[in-house]
Amino acid sequence: MSLSRRDFLKYGAGAGGAAVAGGGIDLRPVEAAATSLRIKEAKAVPGVCPYCAVGCAQLIYVKDGKIVDIEGDPDAPHTEGALCPKGSSTYQLSLNERRITKCLYRAPGSDAWEEKPLDWMMAEIAKRVRKTRDETFVESAKVGDKNVPVNRCEGIAWLGSSVLDNEENYLIAKLSRGLGLVNLENSARLCHSATVPALGASFGRGAMTTNLIDVQHADVIMPTSNWAECHPVSYKWVMKAKERGATIIHVDPRFTRTSATADYHVPIRSGTNIVFFGGLIRYAIESKKYFHDYVVAYTNAPLLVDPNFKGPADLDGLFSGFEPGKRAYDQSTWKFQLDADGYPKKDPTLKDPHCVFQLLRRHYARYTPEMVERVCGISKALFLKVADIYCSASGPDKTATASYALQLNQSTNGVQQIRALCMLQLILGNVGRPGGGVVALRGHSNVQGATDFGTLYHMLPGYPAEPLQGPHPTLTEYLERTTPKGGYWVNNPKFVVSLLKAWWGPAATKENDFAYDYLPKREKADAYSHQHFLVGMLQKKVKGFIVMGQNPAVDSPNAKMSRQALRSLEWLVVVDLFETDTAAVWKEPGVDPKASKVEVFFIPGAPAAEKDGSITNTMRLAQWHVKAVEPPGEARSDAAFVVDLGNRVKALYGGTKAKKDRPIVDLVWDYQPQGPKKEPTMELVLKECNGYATDDITDKDGKLLYKKGEPVKTFAALRDDGLTACGNWIYSGIYPEEGKNLALRREKAKGGDYLAHGWGFAWPANRRILYNRASANAAGKPWSEKKKLIWWDAEQKKWVGNDVPDFSPTMAPDAPRAKDGPLKGISGTDAFIMNPHGLGQLFASVLDGVFPEHYEPFESPTKNLLSKVNNNPIAKVYDIGELNKLGTPDKYPYVLTTYRLTEHHAAGMSRHVPWLSELYFGHFAEIGPEMAKELGIQNGDMVTVETPRASIKVRALVTERIKPFVINGKKVYQVGIPWHWGYQGVMKSARGDITNDLVASLGDPTTFIQESKALLCNVRKGVA
Ligand code: SF4
Repeated sequence: MSLSRRDFLKYGAGAGGAAVAGGGIDLRPVEAAATSLRIKEAKAVPGVCPYCAVGCAQLIYVKDGKIVDIEGDPDAPHTEGALCPKGSSTYQLSLNERRITKCLYRAPGSDAWEEKPLDWMMAEIAKRVRKTRDETFVESAKVGDKNVPVNRCEGIAWLGSSVLDNEENYLIAKLSRGLGLVNLENSARLCHSATVPALGASFGRGAMTTNLIDVQHADVIMPTSNWAECHPVSYKWVMKAKERGATIIHVDPRFTRTSATADYHVPIRSGTNIVFFGGLIRYAIESKKYFHDYVVAYTNAPLLVDPNFKGPADLDGLFSGFEPGKRAYDQSTWKFQLDADGYPKKDPTLKDPHCVFQLLRRHYARYTPEMVERVCGISKALFLKVADIYCSASGPDKTATASYALQLNQSTNGVQQIRALCMLQLILGNVGRPGGGVVALRGHSNVQGATDFGTLYHMLPGYPAEPLQGPHPTLTEYLERTTPKGGYWVNNPKFVVSLLKAWWGPAATKENDFAYDYLPKREKADAYSHQHFLVGMLQKKVKGFIVMGQNPAVDSPNAKMSRQALRSLEWLVVVDLFETDTAAVWKEPGVDPKASKVEVFFIPGAPAAEKDGSITNTMRLAQWHVKAVEPPGEARSDAAFVVDLGNRVKALYGGTKAKKDRPIVDLVWDYQPQGPKKEPTMELVLKECNGYATDDITDKDGKLLYKKGEPVKTFAALRDDGLTACGNWIYSGIYPEEGKNLALRREKAKGGDYLAHGWGFAWPANRRILYNRASANAAGKPWSEKKKLIWWDAEQKKWVGNDVPDFSPTMAPDAPRAKDGPLKGISGTDAFIMNPHGLGQLFASVLDGVFPEHYEPFESPTKNLLSKVNNNPIAKVYDIGELNKLGTPDKYPYVLTTYRLTEHHAAGMSRHVPWLSELYFGHFAEIGPEMAKELGIQNGDMVTVETPRASIKVRALVTERIKPFVINGKKVYQVGIPWHWGYQGVMKSARGDITNDLVASLGDPTTFIQESKALLCNVRKGVA
């Protein structure tokens, strides 16, 4: 017997015996009964929630080849069987009348879809790919007096997705680079791209430092986003910490579900986080609450900086080296003073005026509590209260966890906003320790994995840089310029050569620099991001576009312009479950379909429950999901689409002898498609990502280490001589033996192993808390019994404890700096092994400065009170004329911030799911009562919200949750608008105007992430 949801509710009401709890009817016993009936005799298949990056593990119940139920897996250590509304409705991603199960084709200028056979569609798409590639291919470029092979195709863009699996992203990265594509992105660009350089520059890796389960050990937790709403299941660890006595300080412009659980809500004006964090850093230093011994041992605070370096405190908002004409910095003074060995000089007393600590102190001296009050709108009294609480969570016995999401990312200062938070955690000694760390909360299931696997324009899988034609014309020059002299990245050549072997196999030889020339070379660093290629479409430079699992018609900044760009394409391929707003862009309401000549191919895809693959959640935990049922009709996995397309394009180029075609012809592309739908064998892809021996490998005594084809056990086995192939070095160890997939492990947490090392696989090397060497003091002893994690066992001569050491397992605390080898430059106290000096970097060269400095958002109600430099002087402003006009406070007086909701997902997957769509009445804007009164707006009225780019019509939600700020003595109202809506959706409440139409085309200088959390807008009553 199976029960529909309606039957289930009926059953509940008829049972009549449900207990009343909390003023409502407790349906739990009924639910349990209904569920047990439904799943009786069903097979349970491991699944992973495909919505957000908490990565809730699921059990998919299958009976007679059909999914009958999807539940949270009670054994999962990080989620303990819980699912939020989105996860609970995963069932409707598979069983949904709106699923497209046939291939659809829209001819240029047509006003209707036509059904076409899959084979015809794939053949036509392959032909378009070849034609556009051939038309727009740049084979070589003049660099100085040299002709450099660049093998670059600029006419096609490919948008992968952070809801696709790791293996799918890998295949996209491999095929697109094989085709020469430089316009390659995934949704991480728009949500968390600032995370990678910020965390990378601070700690060495662009990933969350800790583990969600460990949050329970924090003494203070500071969420700077709406954690409870956007990543609900993981919030249980915050609540657990609170039960254990932790204090919660919620820093957010709006009062939200997170604020409701917090001890303190700190309302902050959007876009001013650097002032708040800078104020905390100043407070920690001046009140001597920083963790002195940690700072001296594990950060670069003692290192001496070039005396010619000057900062914003000296240069009124700028760092030394600013070149106004170029809108860039010459970084030649941003360096350390070196000793005779070429290592930075240091002053362990932290007193030298040129040491990082003193420069940091001087830099943030201006970030006083009074300045925090004037800029952020946080009262001085509240600031001092929370500063004291947060900074007291430091030292041997205490730790604090800080979290963030898009409020920090989506800014023209995105990287530096996150950097400031990282630096605060470093000076308080809160990284690498239980209850400490920086929690990066991601809204798509596989943001971490899609980033790791390199579907981003600037990097390759595992984080080596995607080469540039100028500085990287040859492999030797590329490796020379991208490999640091110390730290674990000295192994970069092994990772790069192994990647080249994985991609081009026998064609990659020592003699041809392992086919390095085959890799596309970017013309410049400032190009090819999501925003860049949409502008390229508008200008008809980008002609073809493949979109998988993303919805750029809604999620792009300046989305109205972006839809115009999509309609300017020659051809568009959309692979998705539903007819997304992007797929329907040619028939957007108000648009004449005949006016758009874009040719559209829609290929039906499959959700996680219908395919094999791994998803890496926000804490770097890769979990494998198993195909529970066949996708319906012609639908198939995204991997099947990519592999099929690759085979067809390779076949089209089969007879060619042209040099420019060798990268695609020679691309190793054998994934043994199976069955009528040609589904690739995903474990083969996983094995390639893990790495394997390309030939027998022996040690110096001739002892066989690996047989040809055998998976490597760890990245330590990778080589730069071509004897190993590896698609993504950081995932080495996930498939250590033939048939052994560690992402598929589902062992409950047992004994003292609260970090549950038997559940899935966390890169790197199954470490659960990064930089955990810092959980012990310089001598290798735990800082305190309460906060111990790993420590040095002098008898065993190795690091032991509750996690895999993020350090050489046998390097003693008193070991001198290694002169060479895989840990060159690292000594026994260097806890941040990925950084060149093994230290947490308070001083780090990011494009827009070594310390985060506050600049106002480009649309702001005030001038910058910290300096004469109003906005980030090197931020990207896209030059598209009237389409990107910026607003001023005289015409647009309100601060607008965007956000999301538990019940909806990103750009609209949830809008096709009835169970979710019925949970909200429709699109709305939150407005405070005072502002509403001034404008004569009642709760529920329709209002128009406008920026110079667009206007949208939404319902007013008048609520006390939104308060005005007093900024520099002047009252400023704010408006909050969620951004999930679009013109496609299952019911009226699921359809609405597109919030991102309001957002400008601006970018952080390092990552080009947009500024969508701090805009100016006007609000009018009515929609006329
Ligand atoms: S959306 Fe996130 S929190 Fe909700 S069930 Fe899915 S993974 Fe868990």
